[in-house]
Order: sequence, then structure tokens, then C-alpha cells
Amino acid sequence: MTASGIYLDWNADAPVSDAAWSAYVEASQYFGNPSSLHGPGREAAKVLRDARERVGAAFGMPAESVIFTSGGTEADALALTGYLGGLSAGSVLVAEIEHPAILKNLEVLCEKQGLSLIRVPVSDAGVVYPEEVEKLLRDDTVLLSVMMASNETGVIQPINELAQLCRSRGVVMHTDAVQAVGRMPVLMSELGVHMMTISGHKFGALSGTGALIVEPGLSLQPFLTGGGQENGMRGGTENVAGAACMAAALEDLPSQTVLEAWASTRNQFEKAILDQCPDVQVIGGSEKRLANTSCIQFKGCPGDAVLMALDLEGLFVSTGSACSSGSVMPSPSLMALGISEEAAREYVRFSFPPKMSEQTLQTVIEKVLVVVQRMRTFGKL
Ligand code: PLP
Repeated sequence: MTASGIYLDWNADAPVSDAAWSAYVEASQYFGNPSSLHGPGREAAKVLRDARERVGAAFGMPAESVIFTSGGTEADALALTGYLGGLSAGSVLVAEIEHPAILKNLEVLCEKQGLSLIRVPVSDAGVVYPEEVEKLLRDDTVLLSVMMASNETGVIQPINELAQLCRSRGVVMHTDAVQAVGRMPVLMSELGVHMMTISGHKFGALSGTGALIVEPGLSLQPFLTGGGQENGMRGGTENVAGAACMAAALEDLPSQTVLEAWASTRNQFEKAILDQCPDVQVIGGSEKRLANTSCIQFKGCPGDAVLMALDLEGLFVSTGSACSSGSVMPSPSLMALGISEEAAREYVRFSFPPKMSEQTLQTVIEKVLVVVQRMRTFGKL
């Protein structure tokens, strides 16, 4: 247990579920290297095979579509370098709001390989509309990457329509589903995308676990050469217990009923804040969003100051994305929504846990109202 308080930063890191932890401990007993031919090696290989099947099945995909990685960043990098690696011409489309694991990687990759990188604009609420993509598709477009749901606003993208558009134009589509898994139903077999990134620590498995799920038949260049593991795509001795932990977490995701209760907690929170606090704005409030995410601007209150004040009150929230907090740079993906730099510094992200009592919710609301009012009255914590 770390600092005590109310943890409202599930989009940065979610706790490990009991089921995932038990699976991890149990699978850790299989210490053999899955590539070894002896008994312990064969046992470990069996645990890994089983985990691969279950992870694939969780998304309606066959076992061979799963490439285990060390997390979301690596799976994103594998998708991009794996697919674009051999190309020296063509254009790549990417949503302006993507996580740095996509955007920064693509900037370097496209520059190095002479590919054109085209950013797809989003609406004021952060939606990537297929019509915008259509306008930017060219004969030489090879790839589109759009996240399934935003880590900052929770806004869900029309992945199905985007994938259909890509398929009709012979373009490969990747989606970063890191924030979506466990916060909305995700069935890759029905989405139409060619590649999908997942990250274990966002849905109850341990940090350092993740996967890229690839439609069978799509050819990728190896990402890490070495011992030929992961079907030659990603060398390195496999994290067998991590894979088993991820499979168990995926079988223990919140049910539809829990998802609805989760969204209702978030909605009650937003309603109370909007009703009782002037000059407040919720980003993407009118769009389809993840059940747990609320991105709120308290006008006149710097987000990092609100974060610190809430921390003192025992409420743990985030500003921008966790990867860039610690620096006071406003979030580029919020600014991609046309928000000014000053306003982008005023957003606070609340990402709720799946279950919260009415009493805890009231405490959260009261503390937020008190902190914001104090800051507006006295200009400090
Ligand atoms: N993609 C998105 C949308 C994320 O939110 C994150 C992490 O916050 C990542 C990728 C990176 O995942 P990981 O922390 O597993 O490397």
C-alpha cells in the first residue's frame, strides 16, 4: 500500500487485480526457460501457450495473433517499425491526439525513412472523424494509427468506421487500445483493425506486460532480433508469469453492469461540479467516453496547483498525461483540440476506480469544490 487517500488516477496505472496476482504467483513457479527442451522448459512453454490463447480469445483473435511485449510503448513501437520498417516511400496518417509512444516514434521513423507524416486534425471535442481521414488519404498512404480512446479525455474514436475506410483503400490500420481495455468492450475481431496495442498495467495486470495483436497474414519486420522468440518478432526470454497474469486480468474485466455503475459515478461527479462550481468545462462531455474519465478545466486555476492541493487533501489525480507530468508543459494532445496553451495548463484529469461508495464520491466532490474555491479566493493552496 502506498500513500493513503482516494486514488483517481486509474488511467496512469490501475492496481493489480487479485485474479491477476494469483495467476502471477502461480505461474512464477514455472521457472524454466520456455525455449528449453527439457521438462521445466516444456512446462513453462505450456503456461505461455495457454496465456497466449487466452489473451487472443479475450479479443476474439487466435493465439498466433498475439505478440507479447513489455507494455504499451513497446507494442506501439513494434506496430510502427514492424510495418513501416522496410519502406522508403509513402505517407502515414496519425491522429494529432496520439500518445507520445505513437507520435514521437512516428516523427523519428518517418524522418529516418523519408516517409511523409500527416497529422489528422480532431474536432473541438477530440473526435477523429472518418471524413477528415478521407480527405487526407492518398494513393501512397500505407498506415493509419488512431487510438481507441484518449488517455486524457476518455473520448472514444469511431474505430470501426475508420477501419472500414482503411480497408476500402488498401491501407493498414493500427489502434492503440491501451486505455480502452477494461473500460469498454473491445473485440478486435469485430473492429476491422489490422493491429491493436494493449498494456497490462491499465487493466489489472502488472506493469511491464503488454501485447501487440496482429491480424494473421499481416507481415511485420522483426522488432528485436535475438533468440527468435514471439515467432521471430521479438527476441528475448519471455515473461511467462507476466503473460499468465495478463490473461487472468483479461478474464476478470469489469462486467457491463460495473461499467454502467462506473460511468454513473463519473457522471454524478461531473454534474455536482458543474452545478456547484462556476467557470468549469468538461472536455468531450458530449461525446462517447470511457466510463471512468473526466477531464475538467477549472478556469483560473493551474492544473498542477490543483493536483498538489488535492494531493494534500488525499485525492490523487493527474494533469495532462502521467508521462509528461513532472514537467509543466501543457498537454500537446489537449492543445490539438484548439485549446489555448493557458487553458491547457488548467485541466485536471480524474480517472475513477470501478467501484466507489456514495460517501467516498461525496468526499471527492467536497474536496474538489473546497480546493478550487480556496484557490480562486486566495490564489494559492
Ligand atoms: N498509449 C496510451 C494511450 C497510453 O495511455 C499509454 C500510457 O499511459 C501508453 C500507450 C504507454 O503504455 P505503457 O505504459 O504500457 O508503456
